[in-house]
Amino acid sequence: MNRMDEAAKKLKIDWETYKTLRSPRTSLAVTFPIRMDNGSVEIFTGYRVLYNYVRGPSKGGVRYHPEVNLEEITALAAIMTLKCAVAEVPFGGAKGGVACDPSKMSINELERLTRRYTYMIMPLLGPDKDIPAPDVNTNQQTMAWMMDTYSMLAGYTVPGVVTGKPFQLGGSKGRGYATGRGVAFVTSEMLQRLNMPLKGATVAIQGFGNVGSNTARFLHQEGCKIVGVTDISGGLLNEGGLDIPALLKHVEDEKKISGFKDGEFITDYRRANERLLKSDVDILIPAALENQITEENALDVRAKVIVEGANGPITGTADKILSKKGTTVVPDIIANSGGVIVSYFEWVQDVQAYLWTEDQVNQRLKELITSAFTGVWDAAQEHKTDMRQAAYMEAVGKVVEVTRLRGIFP
Ligand code: GLU
Repeated sequence: MNRMDEAAKKLKIDWETYKTLRSPRTSLAVTFPIRMDNGSVEIFTGYRVLYNYVRGPSKGGVRYHPEVNLEEITALAAIMTLKCAVAEVPFGGAKGGVACDPSKMSINELERLTRRYTYMIMPLLGPDKDIPAPDVNTNQQTMAWMMDTYSMLAGYTVPGVVTGKPFQLGGSKGRGYATGRGVAFVTSEMLQRLNMPLKGATVAIQGFGNVGSNTARFLHQEGCKIVGVTDISGGLLNEGGLDIPALLKHVEDEKKISGFKDGEFITDYRRANERLLKSDVDILIPAALENQITEENALDVRAKVIVEGANGPITGTADKILSKKGTTVVPDIIANSGGVIVSYFEWVQDVQAYLWTEDQVNQRLKELITSAFTGVWDAAQEHKTDMRQAAYMEAVGKVVEVTRLRGIFP
């Protein structure tokens, strides 16, 4: 039985209404040609899944990765539905992606791919319908191209159709850092509940993209000791604590952690990840792809707390092993919700054409994510369960309640 079904059973909610949440509402697969820089034509496949939109327009990122497929995108779109519900932002959940290897593509090829993909999924998009954002291997620039393509086809400028845009195009202050800032807030709340000091806590982070790097930035500012990080170029380990400001500067210039001289460097990223996931730390933060902690390695995890910066980094079986071992897991739908919370703020600013200051954004992010965390923590105590099941119960309960109130059409 999957996590959503388990939560619904435990809540004892009306199964007939809950059933509507077990499948995606709209799934679109598109295949399209792109002219490459060398003159050849390549065929790409992309997807956009709007999992559920009873609570509002669907919301979720777009990822570019060779392994993108419909099953993965659907699972991630379901996670977005629950994430928006726990955070109490008025959105449903969606996800999109294109199967491609962006590391082997030029900027011009990426622009053509983004524009054609946007065109292909255009019927689904709109500030009141479905609103993409960045995810794995996509960024502000990707969102600028999506926004421009949508606007050109609409005939007027529509900033609210995507979030995570550059500030000059209607992006929000603080959106770039938001997911990492949120992960840091949630980590701090969790440690307080466990009576563990944040200052001096040791941390290992898998992945050093937008989420991993900004999580390192904010946890370092809080006085944590980041003793290991990995990315696609390898792993950096230093028991004494890595120089995070210098590493962030290095990654800004080089786009990868390799070449940074501090501690031990492991060039093989698979081996680096294996070492990192098993490191003897207080906090482990998987902030890369899904299915990293599995039944194969869960028993070897030594961290006391795992905070899911990535979506779905722990498999269902691994979850059970960790729970038996007494490892505390802060699940993705609460841990990394800072990104979509500030996406909501960005959309509000766009549709009202009224900009907020960075302090307002950060303050409201803190309020929303802390209140979501507290809700989940309280539910976990009340139902005598772990944070994942509590978060799923909160989320499923909210979506099912709205479904019940709206009724079934026709
Ligand atoms: N891709 C991010 C996530 O998985 C952000 C989604 C959004 O802001 O819409 O939460």
